[in-house]
Amino acid sequence: MSTFDYDLFVIGGGSGGVRAGRVAAESGARVGLAEEFRMGGTCVIRGCVPKKLMVFASKFGPAAAEARDFGWDMPDGSFDWSVFRPKLHAELTRLENIYRTNLARPGTEIHDARAVLKDAHTVELSNGRTFSAKHILVATGGRPFIPDLPGAELGITSNEIFNLDRLPEKVLILGGGYIACEFACILNGLGVHVTQWHRGPQILRGFDDEVRGHIAEIMLAQGIDLRVGVSPREFERAEGRIRARGTDDHKVMVDEVLWATGRVPNSDGLGLTDLGVELGESGEIVVDDYSQTSVPSVFAIGDVTNRIALTPVAIREGAAFVETVFKGNPTKPDHELVASAVFTQPEYGTVGLTEEGARAQEKIDVYCATFRPMQKSFIDRDEKALFKLIVSQESQRVLGCHIVADGAGEMIQLAAVAVKMGATKADFDRAVAVHPTMAEEIVLMKTPVRAD
Ligand code: NDP
Repeated sequence: MSTFDYDLFVIGGGSGGVRAGRVAAESGARVGLAEEFRMGGTCVIRGCVPKKLMVFASKFGPAAAEARDFGWDMPDGSFDWSVFRPKLHAELTRLENIYRTNLARPGTEIHDARAVLKDAHTVELSNGRTFSAKHILVATGGRPFIPDLPGAELGITSNEIFNLDRLPEKVLILGGGYIACEFACILNGLGVHVTQWHRGPQILRGFDDEVRGHIAEIMLAQGIDLRVGVSPREFERAEGRIRARGTDDHKVMVDEVLWATGRVPNSDGLGLTDLGVELGESGEIVVDDYSQTSVPSVFAIGDVTNRIALTPVAIREGAAFVETVFKGNPTKPDHELVASAVFTQPEYGTVGLTEEGARAQEKIDVYCATFRPMQKSFIDRDEKALFKLIVSQESQRVLGCHIVADGAGEMIQLAAVAVKMGATKADFDRAVAVHPTMAEEIVLMKTPVRAD
């Protein structure tokens, strides 16, 4: 019989921590978990879930306009945040309770408190209680990063946006990554006037260049005032609003400023450095392939490790940790060919290499089709879908797949199965088209648009 209070103590009740705590408890381990805020973490409470619900909400305005062009007698409507917001929060509470129930069912003890590491086997909670554990798993996630600029505190982050009392008439979004582009499209769809400043030459750095340009064009055509090459400088209250200044004399008066300038690992104030747990340059907990830190009894998963900051990855890391530590089956989480979607409108689904990344590695053929989908061309909308495959000349394997289209998040999940299996271009071609769909284009591209 172990002399520890728990076999596992998990710090953080987000997607990764909850999965690890639940499956460890199901395997018979005695598990405690501490969460200082709300169960479910960033994804459920202030990230993916509320964001996606806002994506749904934001599509009805443009859909109503399209419906009119299809022959519907559809009046102009407007979005009422005061109707949506309570429903949103009721849904988040419902999901939080499900997380709580599922975690407690196999016997995990939940502590609604902040936990700090006291030594390699001890945690102290903010309610004064102390517990010992054979293993400690840090799954504390990340938090928004705000640059240190005059008046920066006048802005909000994605943490606060779901709690606004009212939607702004005008918003300035800072950044050009996932969160900035997603909220630019969401708020624009809800009828908010959106200005977006991105410091770099193009939005969505790290993604495929051709796709980045394609999405930027669509966002501009939708009425988003997207400016690239503009960095934020200073902010002040003026006339009950916020006056924002950027480089090159860019100025704008808005009701809200949304910082979407990246996220940093939540590793501060946990007692990690005192304990000798190695941290990286951005404060991320350094772990090995099995999520073990430099202190053998302490493991870490999810955004706090800054590997791939995505919910499903944190969940896989949590499950692999339990396989390794509690099931005697050493398992490395697989970080190769992780698909993801940026919920711009239309969405961008991607798996594998960008054209630029693939070309740096080997000789490639690039297949790309841009076209007006049937639904848009019927009503004379110009918004084009994009389907792109990057293929290795040598192995003929599909190295990367990129889709910009309504439903691209759904499509890329399925394409990711084929890419992960090592499908070649010929394998894609062998699949008969599903007609009439947009996705059929992925099996119909016959000639490379570029070849090395
Ligand atoms: P990202 O890293 O995607 O983007 C941060 C943006 O902020 C970049 O455009 C960056 O510019 C810019 N930036 C950083 N520092 C400054 C600064 N000092 N001044 C001006 N601009 C700055 O971060 P996000 O916060 O959007 O998202 C964080 C992570 O969360 C993502 O990487 C993703 O892993 C995850 N996520 C996933 C989603 C999904 O799956 N759909 C949705 C939302 C988040 P530059 O490019 O020049 O560095």
